[in-house]
Amino acid sequence: MSLDLKALVRTIPDYPKKGILFRDITTLIEHPQGFKESVEQIARQYRGRGITHVAGIEARGFIFGAGVAIALSVGFIPVRKKGKLPGETIGQNYALEYGVDTIEIHADVLNEKHVVLLVDDLIATGGTAIAAVGLLRRTGATVKGAAFVIDLPEIGGAAKLAAEGVEVSALMA
Ligand code: 5GP
Repeated sequence: MSLDLKALVRTIPDYPKKGILFRDITTLIEHPQGFKESVEQIARQYRGRGITHVAGIEARGFIFGAGVAIALSVGFIPVRKKGKLPGETIGQNYALEYGVDTIEIHADVLNEKHVVLLVDDLIATGGTAIAAVGLLRRTGATVKGAAFVIDLPEIGGAAKLAAEGVEVSALMA
């Protein structure tokens, strides 16, 4: 019987603030088969489809994205919060509930020859992922897909991201 990945994700109420039900993936990644199977299920969808890089969003997207990059034998690109990358960067602002945040990649890492798979742990409003896709596309690269471990479909981010012309997938809702 196959492993129930959803059963390995823990829900923590009132984190990071009251009223939020936080999906905690640390219980999934500390389970050896759970972690491996999550990475393998994402990689399986994109094997043989010309992906040249996996881009992972800081911080939990690094965990799954690095695994997927290794499974696909391609390089990994960290999409980082502002000010963390040492080289010349390009950045993209996006709206938070209160205020604005910025994500960055190195300016010289991608070009029009490259085909990228974006990976993060979870999509909610889609704000972070849409900003990341915009940033990756500014380099001339193609964003072939965006893969998440968890989608919160009632919030609608995955549908918004799909409307940007990105193939969106998630291992669980
Ligand atoms: P969005 O921009 O789609 O609203 O939020 C997605 C981003 O916030 C992702 O980078 C994700 O890591 C983080 N995030 C928001 N809510 C949760 C949650 O309940 N659990 C986890 N693991 N990450 C969350």
